[in-house]
Amino acid sequence: MGDFTLELNDDQKSVRDWIHGFAADVMRPAAAEWDEREETPWPVIQEAAKIGLYSLDFYAQQFFDPTGLGIPMAMEELFWGDAGIGLSIVGTGLAAVGVLANGTEEQIGTWVPQMYGDANDVKVAAFCSSEPDAGSDVSAMRTRAVYDEAKDEWVLNGTKTWATNGGIAAVHVVVAVVDPELGSKGHASFIVPPNTPGLSQGQKFKKHGIRASHTAEVVLEDCRIPGECLLGGKEKLDERLARAHERAKTGGERVKNAAMATFEASRPAVGAQAVGIARAAYEVALDYAKTRVQFGRPIIDNQGIAFQLADMRTQIDAARLLVWRASWMAAAGRPFTSAEGSMSKLYAGETAKTVTAQAMQILGGNGYTREYPVERMHRDAAIYTIFEGTSEIQRLVIARTLSGMPIR
Ligand SMILES: Cc1cc2nc3c(=O)[nH]c(=O)nc-3n(C[C@H](O)[C@H](O)[C@H](O)COP(=O)(O)OP(=O)(O)OC[C@H]3O[C@@H](n4cnc5c(N)ncnc54)[C@H](O)[C@@H]3O)c2cc1C
Repeated sequence: MGDFTLELNDDQKSVRDWIHGFAADVMRPAAAEWDEREETPWPVIQEAAKIGLYSLDFYAQQFFDPTGLGIPMAMEELFWGDAGIGLSIVGTGLAAVGVLANGTEEQIGTWVPQMYGDANDVKVAAFCSSEPDAGSDVSAMRTRAVYDEAKDEWVLNGTKTWATNGGIAAVHVVVAVVDPELGSKGHASFIVPPNTPGLSQGQKFKKHGIRASHTAEVVLEDCRIPGECLLGGKEKLDERLARAHERAKTGGERVKNAAMATFEASRPAVGAQAVGIARAAYEVALDYAKTRVQFGRPIIDNQGIAFQLADMRTQIDAARLLVWRASWMAAAGRPFTSAEGSMSKLYAGETAKTVTAQAMQILGGNGYTREYPVERMHRDAAIYTIFEGTSEIQRLVIARTLSGMPIR
């Protein structure tokens, strides 16, 4: 027998079962209520914090699972429970990763714990990159960060949009332009500490799905933050900008885009969330098809229904395998030579959308009501072809990676 296995080890199985228990017993029963309320489910986040599921330690442990499967497994179970609440629980992680990827050890130690708070006083964090005119096209970003040398402060001005936890976060991580001449190479990330004057919440969006997750604009008006809030520090930024100017002048060789490599490694986690939603809807549809009787027999006795379920399950398993492959590659330090991370997010996102639509169809009229969860799951699934890079952008990245051509 060779070493290859897709079997989870005992530790992974017990973590998976533990998360599944929380998803089934705490998240599922609360899902419809928080979807209707369209509010952050603070009590559920607190429950998760009490058992250690909402904490930096937990995510760090999963992140350092050498097989790479810790994070996708956790995501799949949480989002099987509920996507809106799931995003409220894992949204902070997006900001934390922004600090872990770019911050110094001191910055990580200072800010990441403040993002989570503690079980008696839970906090959330927000990652603010998108802007009204800079969604897929990050290089169109306008939010400006200007250094005030006399005071050793950065001054932020601009409007961010679509920020998960924007305005209600303790800590905001904001991406801003520090050198407009350099396009996306002239961006840097900043910490905006709790209660900083000049940062305010703009409109809160009323959404189609994941309604328990707070999404809002973040407005920055002469928002002054200490110099030490520039992630990575000023010296490193100055060196990076000088190198970028040199390359722009000499037309020197393009360095590998570090941000793209980070996206390839993080996208499978988002794909795993989509797998969780799809699996949840498929399970409801399978049970329903076995028990709903029409024309004197369970509807699953019709090939038209049974084959749909066969396709749904096949696509879910295929999506999970793509997610696991990319997660394993990230953990093993393998280069994403075919944009395998983007592939996994593309396929899983599209699968969640089609599978949840099929699940609604299998439940007939009931599928269309809020008495059954598949209607919510379908609304939730729709975001997975939009955020963290739309399906079109994933295809663009894959096509460019495969061809080496500047496809537009
Ligand atoms: C609920 C929610 C939560 C979010 N959370 C965050 C967050 O926490 N932080 C954050 O920074 N952002 C967040 N976002 C923003 C999200 O990442 C963007 O919405 C996404 O990147 C798309 O940008 P856009 O909405 O401006 O669409 P656009 O970029 O305007 O795209 C519109 C359409 O054009 C297509 N398109 C664009 N360019 C091309 C091209 N070159 N080729 C083919 N098609 C193209 C797109 O695929 C899409 O179909 C969130 C968004 C939502 C809705």
